[in-house]
Amino acid sequence: MTTHPFGIGDTVWVASYERTQRFVVCPDCGGTTRVKVTLFDGTEIMIECGGCNPGGFMPSTGHIEQYDWESAAEDLTVVGSEIKNGLRGNEINYFFLGGRYSPAEFVFATAGEAIAKSEELRLKHETEENERLMSKTKDHKSWSWNYSYHLRMAKRAKAEMELHERKAEICKPHLKSKK
Ligand SMILES: [Zn+2]
Repeated sequence: MTTHPFGIGDTVWVASYERTQRFVVCPDCGGTTRVKVTLFDGTEIMIECGGCNPGGFMPSTGHIEQYDWESAAEDLTVVGSEIKNGLRGNEINYFFLGGRYSPAEFVFATAGEAIAKSEELRLKHETEENERLMSKTKDHKSWSWNYSYHLRMAKRAKAEMELHERKAEICKPHLKSKK
């Protein structure tokens, strides 16, 4: 497969793709946005799901964003080109009607060649992107962080509870004496 030198006014085929967003149910929480964690003393608490949490202060969504890529080729008219001295030697960029441009490696004389190239790109990026988006689920590192965080919080809450219980004990005689 060769890239031909193209001239102004030539119609060429450029490899492209359509990317469609879809959502899948989060495998960690089954779409409920909450998961149950068992603490050291057997206490079970519900926490925000880490698998589908977008981060920051955003709540968990219950779903994971994924993308379907569809190979495509676009026919465009060349209006100019430039040769740049890049890392891989001379690189040609083509400019098209409508203000678009593309490196020569994505520009072909036929639709078939362009689609073959776009299929190659799709195979390379589709899995990679979807795996990255799914990567927070079943993430034992962040789950163990969650676990120790909630453990700390539970211990703190317990200590506070005991403190308030003791304070309540101190107040008790006063309540009785009022009666
Ligand atoms: Zn989830």
